This record gives sequence, structure tokens and C-alpha cells, in this order.
Amino acid sequence: MSATPRQEPLLISACLLGSPVRYHGRGAACGHALLAQWRGEGRLVPICPEVAGGLPTPRPPAEIEPGQGGAAVLRRAARVIDASGADVSAAFVGGAELALALARERGIRVAVLKEDSPSCGSERIYDGRFAGARVAGEGVSAALLRAAGLLVFSEHQLEQAAAALARFEAAG
Ligand code: SF4
Repeated sequence: MSATPRQEPLLISACLLGSPVRYHGRGAACGHALLAQWRGEGRLVPICPEVAGGLPTPRPPAEIEPGQGGAAVLRRAARVIDASGADVSAAFVGGAELALALARERGIRVAVLKEDSPSCGSERIYDGRFAGARVAGEGVSAALLRAAGLLVFSEHQLEQAAAALARFEAAG
């Protein structure tokens, strides 16, 4: 009797599933068919790193300091500042560490995280000036998960995430 192939799980930003955890108290539900399929297969493991890190919802928007990114925040070489001027770096780093702990606990190798967020952005983040401009870069959780070896994609790259899942599953 052949063994059932392992179904590769995915870590996912909770807001992409519609959870109202964003700073303004709303979600960012993604209606893509792949997400619905993965949800039906029971392979999605949601987390909101900012809420996990202890921040309330709603909360002031926050951005990584201009010219910096998530990796610098993890090295304590840059800060995440909210719109009131408060340094919320510790919550962002703590939430990223909890996301990584969850990924390790569940044997997760692929993550789909919401683009543009100072936690979850994987290709783009806001530029730190609270003016709506975005720059190339990654958020704190995306940086930590990538440093730990996970493949991190955004909601705009679901086909690439599906291909990564298929590769892992084919390799067993
Ligand atoms: Fe969504 Fe990530 Fe922001 Fe939480 S931290 S609201 S999961 S983008």
C-alpha cells in the first residue's frame, strides 16, 4: 500500500482570508480561486503577526523608517513607527517570531503574505513617510521567514506559490 503524499501546508496572512485584523479594523479578503481551493483542502494556517505581537485592532498605521526594511528592524538597526510617533518595533519583531514559531511547529515551507504591509510585504512596503508611497522592500515577518528558509509570496503571486507547493509535494 502506497503512503498518502504529504499535503504541503501554507502560512497565510489572516487578513487575506477576511479576518478584520488590519490597522483600520477591516480585512483584505482575496477572492482568488486558489485560496478557496487551499482553504477547502484545509492547508491554510493563518496568522496576523501584528495582532500576535500584541497590537490592538484598530491601531494607528505603522511604517518602517525611510530607507530601511524588515531585515534592519530584525537587527535592531531600524524602527517601525506608528502614525502617532510611537516605536512599535518590539511588537513587530515579536509577531514575526511567533509567525516563524508557528511555521516551524507545522512544518511549513511556503507562505503567502499580504503585499505592502510593514509586517507582511514581501516585495513592496510603504516608504516610511506616511504619504502613501511604496518602495521595493520587505516587511519584518517576511524578512524573518525568508531568513529561516521559507519561500514567501504575495497575494499577487498565488500561481508561483502553487508551483512551489507542487515541487515540495513531488519531492515528498
Ligand atoms: Fe494582514 Fe499581516 Fe497586516 Fe496582519 S500584519 S493585518 S496579517 S498584512
